[in-house]
Amino acid sequence: MRQFALILFLFAATWIASAAETNYFCVVCGKGPLTGRIWMSKWGAVCDDCYKLENHCSLCGLPIGKDFVKTGDGRFICKFDQPNAVLDVAGAREVFADARRELVGLFGRGFLLNFPDVTVNLFDVDYWSEKGREDGLHKFGFSSTRRTRTGDCTHEVVMLSGRLRTELAATAAHEYTHLWINENRQAEHAIDSDTIEAICELSAYKLMEARSQPEQMQRILDNPYTHGEIKKLVALEKQNGIGSVLNWVKNGTTATLDTETSALAAPVKKSALTFSNVPPPLPAALKLAGLLLEGQSRRAIVSGVSFAPGETKAVKLQNRTVQIRCREIQADSVVLEVAGVPEPLTLKIGEEKFVP
Ligand SMILES: [Zn+2]
Ligand SMILES: [Zn+2]
Repeated sequence: MRQFALILFLFAATWIASAAETNYFCVVCGKGPLTGRIWMSKWGAVCDDCYKLENHCSLCGLPIGKDFVKTGDGRFICKFDQPNAVLDVAGAREVFADARRELVGLFGRGFLLNFPDVTVNLFDVDYWSEKGREDGLHKFGFSSTRRTRTGDCTHEVVMLSGRLRTELAATAAHEYTHLWINENRQAEHAIDSDTIEAICELSAYKLMEARSQPEQMQRILDNPYTHGEIKKLVALEKQNGIGSVLNWVKNGTTATLDTETSALAAPVKKSALTFSNVPPPLPAALKLAGLLLEGQSRRAIVSGVSFAPGETKAVKLQNRTVQIRCREIQADSVVLEVAGVPEPLTLKIGEEKFVP
């Protein structure tokens, strides 16, 4: 049972029980028309044999058959995600160059780097354990600027391999903005570290907006990484334009972008010249791994906990435990009531949302 739950958790899918022959063919092995147990994934039906396969796509959870690619650190990527995944340095450099060009187009020539050479590389997950940084955080990107005695800058960016192109572009925008801040912030202008991260996230947000990616925009807003600063900055940018934010980085004196007085009162958190783009560890968010449908009964697996409609259970997240009531299970989603949160939360299969 435990293993069953684990598999269901890893593989975001819907199980439909059916005795009769269907029109479905397995998207993993091609077998069909399928009968009996069928798992519905976002790519289509999966037969029961393939469902039991050991390896899963690191991006979508699909069982891995014979068509796949593997990252250097052993993560599998399915044939469906492969065309949109960035696996080599050349691809990553292209994503970075595109993001950079688009941001300068959006923000103006003032957002160009004075020292334009940026070394872009990819890293694998084990990069961090090799460096002895097993802090449980999963990092997507990292940037650093070194300043020579004469004041010249050399920039470096590394980003996680095997991610989808769109997500990598958001990381590229974030890291590029760190480089721009490194060049443009006056040495005596101490900036709150959450504010720096929020400015970098604002770039990612604006790039996703320009590319019409509302889901990515929402993810950036909901991410607790900047402790809510991103929402303030998005509002501020809407009101005053990006120029005011960039100008403040260059010429401001306060630690945060709030009013002068509150900024004076705010303690300044230390920020070094090295930054990393750290998403929260996954259990901070609620995720609908899958729906289990059998006859009339339906269960939703939310962050490893199984719910029937009407049930209330405790779900352990990264820093807290939340009481959750399953209000309704729909064909491909679940409606949840989270204790202390006024609005019900709807999750689609495979979707992940932060608890406000
Ligand atoms: Zn199959
Ligand atoms: Zn996949």
